Amino acid sequence: MTIKVLTLVESKNNIMRNVSLELLTAARRIAEEGEVIAVTIDKNVDNYIEELGNYGADKVYRAINDKLDSYDLESYSQALCQIIKQVEPDAVLMPHTAIGKDLAPRIASIFDWGLISDVIDVQKIENEIVFTRPIYAGKAFEKRKVTKGVPFATVRPNNINAELMGSIAEKIDFRVELQAFRTILKDVIRKTSEGIDLTEAKIVVSGGRGVKSSDGFKLLQGLADVLGGAVGASRGACDAEYCDYSLQIGQTGKVVTPDLYIACGISGAIQHLAGMSSSKVILAINKDPEAPIFEIADYGIVGDLFEVIPLLVEELKQLQYTKA
Ligand code: FAD
Repeated sequence: MTIKVLTLVESKNNIMRNVSLELLTAARRIAEEGEVIAVTIDKNVDNYIEELGNYGADKVYRAINDKLDSYDLESYSQALCQIIKQVEPDAVLMPHTAIGKDLAPRIASIFDWGLISDVIDVQKIENEIVFTRPIYAGKAFEKRKVTKGVPFATVRPNNINAELMGSIAEKIDFRVELQAFRTILKDVIRKTSEGIDLTEAKIVVSGGRGVKSSDGFKLLQGLADVLGGAVGASRGACDAEYCDYSLQIGQTGKVVTPDLYIACGISGAIQHLAGMSSSKVILAINKDPEAPIFEIADYGIVGDLFEVIPLLVEELKQLQYTKA
């Protein structure tokens, strides 16, 4: 029997998000020699279909309907359900992003499937699909499997290394019929800037109450710019109105897993750690040597961030200049 695994491709401003490739690698682990089928609603999929093939998609279904434009729960869930019915997959993976978190529960309830969310690893053990997910704000991990319906999970970005497979994907345009919506999207008011997506950034420079002001955050932005990273924040900094809540990392904010997390003037409360403790390397800059953040940091600088960061920026610029 050929195993078919369906994944959702996510794109933003016509650019495919890297998590889409990570899902293909996870799907290949489940499908093995079977089929990995990527689904997209993006009309610009031709820009990156080759890449989807390279990373393991055998087929790419593109849902077509004039009403499918920017993300909307009603239209996207209807479109996806129709493709799922057509493909009859043996497992479904979606990104654990704002869109995936919105869509997956709706689809799981429509099909009455078990859903495992915020997965950081996918394994196939003796023909069983086992999903690993963090619990207790990242202090422990549980392994879980779906017992009802098709195994279905949302996968946290930046946790599975996307692997090149070098195959070619077949594109299938699939016309979907959309039924009357129960709600309609009237408008989207954007609040955030168009910078690097925090949840996918390889480097995150994060500021806490120790940054002291919104001007202090400009200093952090300077460091992020020189590193090609994104700026994040603790809730302490957001509550103090130094920056927007869209930057908040933690239990009630975003979860990030960058290669490098630089915590500046952040004490390291458990609720903050819940959003960043899986980062591959953590550097903490804090003037208090007893700050709890140093307990999980790989590298620590005890010092005043207003002195340390300009020195770091200067050194990094010098390095880039020497390399160029
Ligand atoms: P503080 O704890 O005040 O730490 C500031 C740090 O800056 C200190 O360690 C200090 O030594 C250092 N500092 C000061 N000046 C300098 C300087 N010049 N140079 C270097 N270091 C300096 N928090 C989150 O972050 N994310 C969440 O999602 C979140 N969710 C929560 C949910 C709930 C239900 C609750 C109750 C709390 C939540 N919190 C969350 C809040 C959390 O408990 C902490 O209050 C918050 O993380 C503290 O932010 P902070 O580290 O910036 O501030």
